Amino acid sequence: MNVRLGTASAKRSPHVAIIGAGMSGILTAITLQKAGISDFTVYEKAASLGGTWRDNTYPGLCCDVPSHMYRYSFEPNAEWSSRFSPGAEIHAYFDRAAKKYDVAGRIRFNTEITRAVFRAGQWHLETNLDKGGQTVDVVDMIISAAGVLHHPVYPEIEGLDDFAGHVFHSARWDHDAPLEGKRVGVIGTGSTAVQITADLAGRVDKFSLFQRTAQWVFPQENPAFTEEEKETFRNRPEVMEHMLSALTRAFADTFGAAVIGDEEQMKFIEDACQSNLDRVTDPALKARLTPDYQAACKRLIVSDNFYEAIQQPNAELVTDNIDRVEAGGVRTQDGRLHELDVLVLATGFDGHSFMRPMELTGRDGVELSDFWAEAAMAHRSVSLPGFPNFFMLVGPNSPIGNFSLVDISEKQLAYVMQLIELWRDGTATEISARHNAMETFNATLKAAMGGTVWVTGCQSWYLDKNGNPAMWPFSYDKFCADMTAPNLDEYDLVS
Ligand code: NAP
Repeated sequence: MNVRLGTASAKRSPHVAIIGAGMSGILTAITLQKAGISDFTVYEKAASLGGTWRDNTYPGLCCDVPSHMYRYSFEPNAEWSSRFSPGAEIHAYFDRAAKKYDVAGRIRFNTEITRAVFRAGQWHLETNLDKGGQTVDVVDMIISAAGVLHHPVYPEIEGLDDFAGHVFHSARWDHDAPLEGKRVGVIGTGSTAVQITADLAGRVDKFSLFQRTAQWVFPQENPAFTEEEKETFRNRPEVMEHMLSALTRAFADTFGAAVIGDEEQMKFIEDACQSNLDRVTDPALKARLTPDYQAACKRLIVSDNFYEAIQQPNAELVTDNIDRVEAGGVRTQDGRLHELDVLVLATGFDGHSFMRPMELTGRDGVELSDFWAEAAMAHRSVSLPGFPNFFMLVGPNSPIGNFSLVDISEKQLAYVMQLIELWRDGTATEISARHNAMETFNATLKAAMGGTVWVTGCQSWYLDKNGNPAMWPFSYDKFCADMTAPNLDEYDLVS
């Protein structure tokens, strides 16, 4: 069955709550407004917008997705400073978009939705659950744009509280902690730690990188755009469009294909990572930096200067396991104390909680905590059976390799907007995925995971507690095709 759109005159206007004022939440607010749905509020738990780009302010932060791919399709940006722009620039871009499209004033800050209950055809939203709960809104629909990587994981290392210097998670950077002339330690070797290392190693007194698992690092230059290039982008937007199409095609045909089984493309990635690693001149250091699993099994790290940084005379790669943290620094199991003034926990995020700890009670009292007890799953990443008129962006199985999440979020929202249209034109008052449709969808995903690089033997945040990758195991083109329009046979439509 295809989507049937109603006439403008027959349209009802839903009252909508958007959860989260990050990239997806701002996108949703702008899109609703453009569609003529003006009765919405964006609920944001923090005091400002920007999501991951608000939370992460660490030195060296930039996005390893090319900037001209990491933007809203309706808001190209001629001013990106470089191929992979710094985090602050990306944050400013989303802030500007919220203001330009007049949705910044629709955000209610410092309001965490802690519970939502579906009762008599509407969602009742509560905040302050810890203080007994307080209803803040009653809405027709919820669009959760809560993000994926926003719950920092703190390592369980004995003595962390005993550290006498500054200790903090990479996503909670303490800008009061002095760095120049200090001894800085970083735990972790993910994308975050690699970017911090590349930026900091050369400009602190002593830099120690505590590595539990070596990582493959894909080399990519990050040239600045010249004023001349920016001028061209300003005057000829079609040049930016062309660049976007070319980059998207290249990502899809190379990296996107490699992670789901294209051996030739995988060989290209492996060779590039190996030649990057070959820049390490000391054979013993190189051996310690060499992973024992396939490239791109963990999320592939992109950096052109990590190996250079870790070879600086004041930098040390520590591969002895951490025993504990003491007042003076980190003691490794070989008995050595690595004396530090600052300790950064670049230990990643819980990528499987999504909008939780928010509690969600759907039709007939079904609880999200029960529904997701085994694993977080959704139909086409956006809809949950039994939770009518609740939609998610960048939900379970959304990430497509290292693709731009902005693009993924836009495509998911365009799909969701077609479901919302059914509510508006009166086709349905309650819309949620059918149970069997979600089960079939997830079984198809699971069956395809066997052919992906993510199950070739490594640990990463991609894997859920059952070892299943929470990823999209097909091509980018299939994602685009599948998300063009909802197949309504997959949905339970209550009129
Ligand atoms: P991550 O990739 O999950 O890496 C966490 C690191 O901490 C790993 O090296 C892990 O080691 C280590 N670790 C965790 N607990 C530890 C412990 N108890 N002792 C020692 N080491 C420990 O986290 P991330 O680097 O923050 O990156 C997360 C994701 O954020 C990325 O994959 C990416 O999707 C996104 N990100 C993107 C960009 C970008 O430029 N677009 C930049 C930064 C982050 P093991 O490997 O041994 O588990």
